[in-house]
Amino acid sequence: MNEELKDEGTRNFVKTILALRCVKSGILPFLKQKCAELHTQYLNDLETICGRSGYTCTRCHIKTLEPYHSSKIPCKYAKAKLKCDCRRQGKISCSEGTCGIIYDLIKDDHVQNDPNWSNTNSEMWSDKQRGPWEIMKSFISTRGYESKTNISDADITALIQICINNSRLRCELGDNLKYLEKIKDIRNLVFHSGTLKISSADVHMYLSKMEDALNLHIFCFPEVKDELKNLENIKQDISRLTIEDEVTARTETLVAIRELQILTEQQDNIQDLKCDIAQLQRVQLEHTRALDDRLNAIEKHMLKLQEEHMKNKTFLNHQRSVIYDLDTMNRKMDQISHASVMLRYVSINCEL
Ligand SMILES: [Zn+2]
Ligand SMILES: [Zn+2]
Repeated sequence: MNEELKDEGTRNFVKTILALRCVKSGILPFLKQKCAELHTQYLNDLETICGRSGYTCTRCHIKTLEPYHSSKIPCKYAKAKLKCDCRRQGKISCSEGTCGIIYDLIKDDHVQNDPNWSNTNSEMWSDKQRGPWEIMKSFISTRGYESKTNISDADITALIQICINNSRLRCELGDNLKYLEKIKDIRNLVFHSGTLKISSADVHMYLSKMEDALNLHIFCFPEVKDELKNLENIKQDISRLTIEDEVTARTETLVAIRELQILTEQQDNIQDLKCDIAQLQRVQLEHTRALDDRLNAIEKHMLKLQEEHMKNKTFLNHQRSVIYDLDTMNRKMDQISHASVMLRYVSINCEL
């Protein structure tokens, strides 16, 4: 597992995955801060809208929560692409009068007024610790984030989707957003590519774009320095890349492909969907095969080591038994020689 990776194309693939990890860690502190700021902003807005200084409700479920604007006709999101939930049957208004307002605030802040409600747990919105992330998860386009309770569990694409879909963040990032969109494109390109290998020219270009993104003034947090250093080490080929890194990178890719499949299934164009799914399945198969080969080779190597270990153990046991026999023999010889000395001593005494 600790063997150095030799194949250049595979090394470049692993380098790109490791570099994407650096970008995620680099922009994480910024996103964490934005989650906290948004939560504080919503608490202030609650106070302005309904005069409540505290938000404590933990009972409202997103599937049944009645939006605050339900009582208003017409619906304020009538022009939004998708139908609004405010007229749906079975909606329950928040007994505290707060959750519906947060619902509307999130919807207002989504660039298309279409948050991904399946990702969020509204019962946790009022929680000081979990609330900020639970609210922010509504801005991730990919489904499947409901059970991810920590921002660190999100992948780089989810973090970039937040920056794209949250209008406040989008506005704050301004032109800088294009740097993040490039990272998203690199990630999709790498995970969509069936070759599983990346040329040195491509990896160099990817790493430069990642550096550009992390060098943006907006991400200027102490952690970014470390990640830029890690990126530089990857670029200079200083970091050791092992088979273990390759196995981890491929497993990570398979998880990412699954997420891409979920996202692809959400698109409207059936023809594009079929093509994209087919391509992703091809890449998935290639990575699974490569992983199988690697794992089989590792297993073979381990069996060989086990065999050698057993051989060495048998050899050692044999040597030990020889030493033990010699030792026993020596002790017996000592006893015999001691007895013969005693016998001679007795016989001399008797003669006297
Ligand atoms: Zn509505
Ligand atoms: Zn409530």
